Amino acid sequence: MIRDFFRVLVVDLSQGKSKVENIDGRNEVAGGSGLGALLFNRFSLPEKPWDAPEQPLIFAIGPLTGYFPLMSKTVCAFKSPYHNQFTESHAGGRTALSLRFADYDALVLCGKAPSLSCLVIGSRLLEIKDVNFMRGMDITESGKLLRRMFPGSGHRTIMRIGPAGENRSAMACINADTYRHFGRMGGGAVMGDKNLKAIAVLGDGEFVAPAGKEYPRLFDDVFKQVTSTDMMKKYHNLGTPANIKSLNDIHSLPWRNLQATSDPLVAGITGERFADENLLRNGACSGCPVGCIHIGFVREKFMKDNRYLYRQVAYDYEPIFSTGTMLGITDSFSVLSIMDEMEKAGLDVMSAGVALAWATEATEKGLISKKETIVPLQFGKSASYRQAVVHLGGAANEFYALLSQGTLRAAEKFGGAEFACVLGQEMAGYATGEVFFAAQATSFRHSHLDCGGYAYDQKHDEQDIEKAVNFLIDDEAGRIALTCMVSCLFAREIYNSEMLSKCLESVGYSDLAATLPHIALNVQRLRWKTRIATGYNPDSVTIPKRFFKVKTWKGMIDPLYLKHLKKRYAERILALGASQYA
Ligand code: SF4
Repeated sequence: MIRDFFRVLVVDLSQGKSKVENIDGRNEVAGGSGLGALLFNRFSLPEKPWDAPEQPLIFAIGPLTGYFPLMSKTVCAFKSPYHNQFTESHAGGRTALSLRFADYDALVLCGKAPSLSCLVIGSRLLEIKDVNFMRGMDITESGKLLRRMFPGSGHRTIMRIGPAGENRSAMACINADTYRHFGRMGGGAVMGDKNLKAIAVLGDGEFVAPAGKEYPRLFDDVFKQVTSTDMMKKYHNLGTPANIKSLNDIHSLPWRNLQATSDPLVAGITGERFADENLLRNGACSGCPVGCIHIGFVREKFMKDNRYLYRQVAYDYEPIFSTGTMLGITDSFSVLSIMDEMEKAGLDVMSAGVALAWATEATEKGLISKKETIVPLQFGKSASYRQAVVHLGGAANEFYALLSQGTLRAAEKFGGAEFACVLGQEMAGYATGEVFFAAQATSFRHSHLDCGGYAYDQKHDEQDIEKAVNFLIDDEAGRIALTCMVSCLFAREIYNSEMLSKCLESVGYSDLAATLPHIALNVQRLRWKTRIATGYNPDSVTIPKRFFKVKTWKGMIDPLYLKHLKKRYAERILALGASQYA
């Protein structure tokens, strides 16, 4: 239903009370990222730490959710335990459609439940169930139980945390429907701190398609584009793991804690190898005909009776980088077995893999020993990594408890900050060059998805600071238009500005259709203003020495170019945050 306001369910977990609020601002922020920032400003206490009970955990969808293919994501906004500042994390699965069918534009959770709980909401239902018996349960075990407690599929989502979230690890993710994640910046710890083991959203309401001929005509047009163009093939067939070989070929794939950017041993973990050896099936987020989720299998042998257990694990480019090349693991089954442990612990796979790569090099250099790591860490040895993941998720000792708050936190105590692969948070898998390094270190979510710095690096070898920074700023605004909707970013070539306006018009959001680029710019400003108000200071984000010693397809990193890029990008961001919301 088209509304010129947001229908928001606000739950006070401490009191066990809730209310539905109609909140203005649709034509100013659209939804998704814009709505997340708007609600954060309304409900948060910017001066207080991330774990103050009042701080909100926000889930927001967009005006096109449910109407068009790949409008399948939810924006989660919160104050991050990683840096104590405003941030966002995005996930798909069934999250967005379930909220749409429950008839909410957003869910805001404040307070702390008195005991470990599961929040259940529907269009006419709200319950906070005590699930203390689930304390310590991993993602697989809790998933089985929760699916039995809340049967259904399609428009039912189950978001849950593992031991890492309960332990308030800054690397804890929120698992969404088993194969998708609000991965980065510690959303899982925020849920854990609120004593929430799980959130089940039952999309039990109605959702009426727009009347008239324009909407179905446009839907068909978008659907054809999605299913008949290269996009479907690219993401469905090999999927993002296809990039493993191509980035290795151009010396841009981080290996063994970024000590190299290419290795012939890549043959064992390419997208082709995973497709041949491990792939069981493809999955998809609700409302997506592409189905880019690649699900492989791992096998475990029970020594007692010689039986085998098969488990399904979703893989992508980024998790293969962090549990494969970064740890020197070059066998696809071993890579999946490490990912499987990270999934069970409820850890963000990217952050945890990069942290363990640092711990391995710190071990090699004698900064830490088995006293800290409990198991002997060595590049290429998967069995120890599987055990280390359990220790990391469980914060098994002082070392793992520190590491679980971020690699640099552990390096402060044990040394080794110069080879910590951290750019605002543990690096994403792109050693493409100066533009990406400056972008991840400085950008809003410290994510490769904030802006396409990794793609820019692969196309440009000239050193033009203004051109590169203009690209980063403009590309961020373009992506914000999509994350306000909230579209899967894989569809960014289809949902250009013109197409988004047509889609908005066809469902009745004429004002949004006419002003979307302007709204995206305003949300860009609002997000930065909000982040800055919670303490963001680009000068305090350092780029460790390791990044200055990297060799890419363009040659060695130019330290001066990298420093100047970061400085100029930071100036532009601070100016954006200080500029007026127009
Ligand atoms: S392309 Fe993949 S991530 Fe994007 S909506 Fe479809 S299944 Fe989900």
